[in-house]
Amino acid sequence: MRVNTLKRAAVAFALALPGAAVATVVAAPAAHADGCYTWPRTLSQGRSGEDVRQLQIRVAGWAGYAGVVRIDGRYGPETAAAVKRFQSAYGLRADGVAGPQTFAKIYDLQDDDCTPKHFSYSELDNGCGKGGWSGGPLSSSATRENAVRTMWKLEALRRSLGDKPLYVSSGFRSIACNKQVGGASDSQHLYGNAADLTSRDRTLCEIARSARDQGFSGIYGPGYPDHDDHAHVDSRRENTRDKTANTTDWSAPDCAVD
Ligand SMILES: [Zn+2]
Repeated sequence: MRVNTLKRAAVAFALALPGAAVATVVAAPAAHADGCYTWPRTLSQGRSGEDVRQLQIRVAGWAGYAGVVRIDGRYGPETAAAVKRFQSAYGLRADGVAGPQTFAKIYDLQDDDCTPKHFSYSELDNGCGKGGWSGGPLSSSATRENAVRTMWKLEALRRSLGDKPLYVSSGFRSIACNKQVGGASDSQHLYGNAADLTSRDRTLCEIARSARDQGFSGIYGPGYPDHDDHAHVDSRRENTRDKTANTTDWSAPDCAVD
C-alpha cells in the first residue's frame, strides 16, 4: 500500500534524525486514506455494517480448522475469532477488536485495487488465456468479487506457510475454458471461487493440510484423481449459486486430508 509505505518510510527517516522534525511526523494521524477501502471506526462484537463486511472479506482466511467466516456484515464471535487469529499471525495484540493497528496491517497487505499484496487479478482471471471474468454462470462483477475473496484466503494460506510464494496455475474458468481443460461440470473454478496451487518451498500436502485452517471448504490434493501435481482449494460451502451441497469436501488421501 503506497501511502502507508511512504508514511512509514518518512517516520523511520525522521526517527533516524534528532530534532524537531520528529514530533511533527510522529504526530501524523494513524494510517488512513487507503486506495481501496478505509475503515471509519474501530469494530468489535455487536457492530454491523458495510465496514464489518469489508473486514470479514479480509480476515476470512483466518477462520480456523474447518471454519468459515460468514460475510454478512455482522461482527459475531466467528468474526472476532478470525480477527484474533489474524492479529496473532501478524504479531499484533490479539484481542479480537479491529482497531487502528489491525487496519494498518490490512492497509499494508492491501493493494489499491483491493487485492492482497501477493496475489493479483491477472493470476486468477480466465485460465484459458483470454483473461477477464466473463463467460461463467455469474456476472463478471460477482465472479471478480469471489476472486477477491479467494485471494484474501490465499494470502492467509501463504502467511501460514511461512510467507513463501504460492503459484496459481488455474483460477477462474469460463464455461468454455472449463470444458476445454476437462474440469468438473459444476466446478468452483466457474465461480471465481477456486484456485489450483503449487509451490517451490512447500509440498502439496503442506498446502492441503494448512488450507483446512484457512477457510477453504473444498480441498483436493495428492491421492485424489488428477490432483498429484497441484492442490485445489475452494469455498464451496459459501457458494449458494452452484448445484452442489454447501458442505465441506476435502480429499487428499496421500496427505491424510479427508
Ligand atoms: Zn481446481
